[in-house]
Amino acid sequence: MNILHTLYAIFVFCFGLAFGSLANVCIWRIPREESIISPGSHCPKCNSSIKWYDNIPLISFIFLGAKCRYCKNTISWQYPLVELATGLIFATLFLRFGFNITFFINLILVYFLIIISGIDFKTQLIPDVLSIPLMGIGLITSFINPVLRIPSYKLHVFIGVPIPIPIVHFMSAILGILVGGGLLYFIAWVSRGGMGGGDIKLAAAIGAFFGWENILWTLGVAFFIGGILALILLVSGLKKRKDPIPFGPCIALRALIVMSFRSFLYNLLFYSSIIF
Ligand SMILES: [Zn+2]
Repeated sequence: MNILHTLYAIFVFCFGLAFGSLANVCIWRIPREESIISPGSHCPKCNSSIKWYDNIPLISFIFLGAKCRYCKNTISWQYPLVELATGLIFATLFLRFGFNITFFINLILVYFLIIISGIDFKTQLIPDVLSIPLMGIGLITSFINPVLRIPSYKLHVFIGVPIPIPIVHFMSAILGILVGGGLLYFIAWVSRGGMGGGDIKLAAAIGAFFGWENILWTLGVAFFIGGILALILLVSGLKKRKDPIPFGPCIALRALIVMSFRSFLYNLLFYSSIIF
């Protein structure tokens, strides 16, 4: 790793901090159906507008001692945590992929997942205004999404007629939507309300980015993490048996884990499919 590469990584980290700050605004305002652009940042408790120097990611939180400058009410730890997480995740994606199409597509997916996780964690709801556009972006970028290459290769062989690669990618994304959404729809039907409509649409949206094979894997481990989280919450007494367990963060978490290993697995599968 040379100096220029390190500088790029730091730049991407700072870029992530700024986007983390915007994510906090989205997490607060989208469930309240408020505009993200106006009015400018203000304290949710005393309504004072926040000056730019009090709105610098991480730094302002530390200098203000986690308190509003005007009303001295405490500022939630959510703000620096989301900022730091976004910065670290953006930088990790850059170190993993470099500046290329995979990086940018994953950046969009991850950013939506951060906002969706925040809202889901606080409200147990996944807003359609996020999951539906995410699905649309997944479909539009599917033509050039290298991640959809392996399933599309198999699809190509299965059908036996040459189809342009971008079209096969698109078909793989459509299958991802059907498998991801369909599986959760089935679980919602079997469990009679154990799974919400928001979960179905989020799984379908991630399916558009991952293709049908990976969405199965992703959901399988999401259930596993969800189960462990449920157990911890029950044993620690934080949740009563009947309380709903936020499932969105589990899917999102799993999606993040998959992303760090996926391209390696894909390369392996891709080359072995060429050899055999
Ligand atoms: Zn205040």
